[in-house]
Amino acid sequence: MDTDEFIAADSFVSMAKDTTFNDPNFFETTVEPLLVAGREGDLCEWLKKIGLIAKEQKCPNNECLTTDKMQWHRARVVDKYNWVCLECKKKVPARHASFFSDFKCELGYALKVIDGWCRNLPLSDVGGEGRTKANVAKRIYNGCVQVAEWYLKTKVGEFKLGGTDIVVIVDVFPGGNMSLNTPTTSHNNNFSKRVLCIADTAHVPVRVWAHLLEGSNKENYKIVEMVKSHVMPGSTIVTNEMLYPLLRNLPGIGEVISTEALINLDINHDQKSLKNLETIWATTVDACIQLQDMSTTHAEQHLCELQWRQMYGFIAFPSIIQQIVEYTAHHNPLRTPLPSIWPSN
Ligand SMILES: [Zn+2]
Repeated sequence: MDTDEFIAADSFVSMAKDTTFNDPNFFETTVEPLLVAGREGDLCEWLKKIGLIAKEQKCPNNECLTTDKMQWHRARVVDKYNWVCLECKKKVPARHASFFSDFKCELGYALKVIDGWCRNLPLSDVGGEGRTKANVAKRIYNGCVQVAEWYLKTKVGEFKLGGTDIVVIVDVFPGGNMSLNTPTTSHNNNFSKRVLCIADTAHVPVRVWAHLLEGSNKENYKIVEMVKSHVMPGSTIVTNEMLYPLLRNLPGIGEVISTEALINLDINHDQKSLKNLETIWATTVDACIQLQDMSTTHAEQHLCELQWRQMYGFIAFPSIIQQIVEYTAHHNPLRTPLPSIWPSN
């Protein structure tokens, strides 16, 4: 290990010890100060440190005989720096083979857009002026969704809901109870995509697993199978009148209660239970409405994004950054593997 590498490794350790990873204001405290004009060099060093861009490059020119690493140089390019081979003068962009290499924009702009995605801001609020920029912002948003989906599918996998005496709510959109009192769902008949939604009320905010239903006549059988494979034994299931007969006798489940029975238990008949259900399903109902106009692929991606936000939303920026680093390393094995400063989860 040479001195430079030693210093780099040292800073990984100090950053990992840092509690910034759990800081909900990570973007404001750590990233934003680096986005001012004149600090492009510091920004690049930070990006190298966390692994968003490569910290070293070898000359990609096959005819070049040097074994030396490329040199980091100031340049008249958008990133203000690039890599230069001292032997053959070949240049490589600072963002080569990184998440940013697909986007023609400043690194700072890309980071701001990623932060906008993390805050679930509409694209019109983050894109900025001009059609080209808006288009880049849209592609960065799509990139974040792709990373989030990849991370959930490959790293988190299928998760289970509930557990002994934990209330799990099983419902279907549309047609179930979750959308009953929502004025925007008065056109239920226009909703062609049905979604099975399972909420674990032990999590704050409530953790929801959601899946598109295909509308085939085997649907009931599939619903039962999905509930069986995602709800832990011992859970108490609250479900709508339509699903109640299907789920009533599920083996291993503590108790199954219909929503109607639950509402009848309300003291003063104030529909408190129904109002609680509305709060629990609010973001899920929004997502289910939004996905109606999407292709099946995009609709599934949208449900994935909903789940990602429930799991990582409170520390969204450092989470997506860490996952982008892992995604890039996984999809781009040619890049020098970087030591991870991130806590494993
Ligand atoms: Zn070279």
